[in-house]
Amino acid sequence: MNVNISSTAAGGFVSGVKALISGQNKLACVITLGCQQNEADSEKIRAMAVDMGYGLTDSPECADLIVVNTCAIRRHAELKALSIVGNFKAYKKDKPELIVAICGCMAAEPHVAESIKKSYHHVTFTLEPSMLHRFPELVHRSITEHRRTFVFGNEEWDVIEGIGSVRTSSHKAWVSIMYGCNNFCSYCIVPYVRGRERSRNSADVIAECRALIEQGYKEITLLGQNVNSYKSDMTFAELLEAVARIPGDFVLRFMTSHPKDASDELIRVFGQYTGKIAPAFHLPLQSGSDRILKEMNRTYDTAKYLATIDKIRAAVPDAAITTDIIVGFPGETDEDFEATMSILERVRFDMVFSFNYSKREGTRAAKMENQVPEEVKKERMTRLLDVQCEISREKNDAYLGRTVRVIVDSAEQKSGKTVYSARTATNKLVHFGAESNYIGKFIDVKIIRTGAFDMLAEIV
Ligand code: SF4
Repeated sequence: MNVNISSTAAGGFVSGVKALISGQNKLACVITLGCQQNEADSEKIRAMAVDMGYGLTDSPECADLIVVNTCAIRRHAELKALSIVGNFKAYKKDKPELIVAICGCMAAEPHVAESIKKSYHHVTFTLEPSMLHRFPELVHRSITEHRRTFVFGNEEWDVIEGIGSVRTSSHKAWVSIMYGCNNFCSYCIVPYVRGRERSRNSADVIAECRALIEQGYKEITLLGQNVNSYKSDMTFAELLEAVARIPGDFVLRFMTSHPKDASDELIRVFGQYTGKIAPAFHLPLQSGSDRILKEMNRTYDTAKYLATIDKIRAAVPDAAITTDIIVGFPGETDEDFEATMSILERVRFDMVFSFNYSKREGTRAAKMENQVPEEVKKERMTRLLDVQCEISREKNDAYLGRTVRVIVDSAEQKSGKTVYSARTATNKLVHFGAESNYIGKFIDVKIIRTGAFDMLAEIV
C-alpha cells in the first residue's frame, strides 16, 4: 500500500521532539555504510532529524543523536558497523542523554538486534529499513521514556510517501522507485531484511524527478534492488521513458537490473533516449557457470545473459557495461571459475565489482556444506582482478584523445592545484585541473591519459 506520512502518527512525534529540544541547539550525525539505497535512506533520516529541530553535523563526537545506517550484505560490512558503533560507548559516558540509533539492513537481522541488545548497552534503538517513517517516534520515545527499543519483524511492507530528503549532493540525486526484493538469490540477505517488493506510484516518482530537474539537478539515478520488476500503472521501461521525456539538461541512470527481467522494451528505451539515459548498463552476472547460477537461484543461464548483452550492444554500441561477480560461491569448482573467466573475456566488461562469497546467516547458501576455502577464493580473486584490470585499461584506452562531456563532482587540493573529479556519461572517473569552480556543471574535457580505473583530462 502507498501511504502518505502525513496520515501516520509521525507528524505528532516530529512536533513533539521539536518542542522537547527547542532552543537547545541539538545536533544529529548520520553515518552511512553500504549501497546507494542506504544513501537515499540516510537523506530521508537527515530530513526527519531537521524537521524535528536538530542541526546536522558530520562529527559524531559533537552530536546528540547519532544514527548508523548499516549494511548487512557481507560480514565485513557488519564488523565495520559494529566497530563504529562500539566507539560511541565512550561518548555516551560523557553525555548520558546521547541517542545512538542503528538503522539499515543489520537492524532487521534478529541475531544482530539480539546481540546489540545484549552487548551494546549504549545503543538506544534499532529500526529496520522498511519502518524508517517511525524514526521520529523512536527519537521521541528515547527522550521521554528513557528506554531502549528494538523494532524489527515488519510484515506490512507499505510504501511511505512524503518524507523529505536532505540530499548530500546539490547536482546528483538518488530516487528510489521501489523497495524490497522477491528474488531470494540463495546467497543474499536483502529479501529478509528489506522485505517484499513494493513499488512507488509512477506519478510520485515522475513528480519527484521533475522537481529535482527544475531545481537544477544534473543527474538522477532511479534506484531499486531490481528496478526491472518495478510494477505500478507502468512497467519500468515506461517509467524510464516518462522520466527521460521530462524537459531539461540532465543524465538519467538506473540500478540495479536483474538479468532475468531485462526486457526488450527496456533495451529499446535505453537505445532510444541516448541523449538523456546514460549509455551505461549494470547487469550483475554473479557467475559464468550455469550450475552455480542455478545454485544461486538466479533463474537465468549464461546463454540468456549473453543474449541480453548482445541486445544492449546492438541498441547502444558504445554503452559501458559493468557487472558484479561473486567468487567462491559454495561448490564453485575450478571449472566453474574458468567459465566465469571466459565470460569476462567474451563480454569485456568496462568494470567488474567482484566480491568473495560471504556467508549470510539465514540464507540457503550459508547452509551449503561445500564452502570454498578462503585461500582458494583469494587466489581466484587475484586472477580475476588481474585479467579485468587489463580489460578495463583497454576499454579506457579507447577514450585517449577523445573529447567527452563530464559532470563535475568534487575538487581537492593537490600540490597547490585544484584537481576536479568528474564522471563521463559512461560513468568513467576523470580528473582534471582547473582554476574556476566547475562542481555540479557539465563541461567538455579532452582525455590525455588513461589507466584501468580513471583517466586524466584537460578542459577543452
Ligand atoms: S535480486 Fe538477488 S542479489 Fe539482488 S537483492 Fe534480490 S535477492 Fe539479493
